Amino acid sequence: MVLVEDGVIRDVDFTGAAAPEYATVTDFGPDEWLLPGLIDAHVHLCWDGTKDAVAHVASDDRETVLETARASAATTLQGGVTTVRDLGDRDYLSLALREQVPSTEIPEIVAAGPPITARGGHCHFLGGEAEGADALRAAVRERLEQGCDVVKVMASGGNVTPGSNSLDQQYDRSDLRLIVDEAYRLGLRTAAHAHAVQAIADAVDAGFDTIEHFSFFTPDGVDLRQEVLDKVVRGGTFVSLTVGMMPGKAPTLPAVVARFAAMTELVAKVIASGARVVPGTDAGATSGKRHGVYPYALIQLAELGMPTRDVLRAATTEAAEAVGRGGHKGVLRPGADADLLVLGSSPVDDVSAVTDIRAVYRAGHRVR
Ligand SMILES: [Zn+2]
Repeated sequence: MVLVEDGVIRDVDFTGAAAPEYATVTDFGPDEWLLPGLIDAHVHLCWDGTKDAVAHVASDDRETVLETARASAATTLQGGVTTVRDLGDRDYLSLALREQVPSTEIPEIVAAGPPITARGGHCHFLGGEAEGADALRAAVRERLEQGCDVVKVMASGGNVTPGSNSLDQQYDRSDLRLIVDEAYRLGLRTAAHAHAVQAIADAVDAGFDTIEHFSFFTPDGVDLRQEVLDKVVRGGTFVSLTVGMMPGKAPTLPAVVARFAAMTELVAKVIASGARVVPGTDAGATSGKRHGVYPYALIQLAELGMPTRDVLRAATTEAAEAVGRGGHKGVLRPGADADLLVLGSSPVDDVSAVTDIRAVYRAGHRVR
């Protein structure tokens, strides 16, 4: 029994005690499973999850992009994902969304705004270009002033931006450290997008809270550096693994297609290493990653060797810590937000039960 009041969990009882008399009771019966709402550590609400997602987010007018973000958020919430960390909007539209739309229509949004990137670099079209110490400090301050929770930096190039190469480093180690120091000074968390081996090593050294992708690209394939992985395990850095693909879809980005088998093997090794892994789908970025893709990320983690209990912990408690909402999200505990998911069968027996949704609650309101 989970007792909810004013959007917050007041009590949790496993003994079969009766509900207080003043409470309205919804009984889901003995066979259904109650979980904290799920958390996606890496989404792009402004991106529409079509093959033309880049062109749309780069060129559509503000109102159209905001409408895309609203639809993306609604789809995500209906899938039982009650918190997302948006790691790349345009023009701070994910913040506009969470201000303008009631919280019962969208997940809680942990927002980065536009990622900080090199001039003409990965996702430059989102509006976050900054180079040099002064501009980087100003960029971090701007995110604080806009109301962001986290600073996202493109430490390497990326796969979806024409002209950007994921093997290139966009910032050196001192730039990355400067960004992390400035963010911490201002009370913001930090996330680094990193594909290239050296960019990952530098981002880990700089002290980012989460490393996105963690894919160890080399010109010929991928090369998981054990010493970097060891450092991540020792330091408790969160690895936001880019998992999940819509059924029937396969990777289309050439850099990923060429490396896909090796990347899958790498993810299995990272899981086995004991690193603090959380699922980050990159939902919205491509047509294989439509909003709503999240359950397939959890199924993939299980297929790659993660025990189901660990998958569920990664998707809730661990992800909440990674995105800076520990204690408020991802737990069924007095004082936590009443974001709840009810499933028709056991996700411990088979994690694909996360697609068998009976109810979703957001801030104590039933939204499905
Ligand atoms: Zn992304």
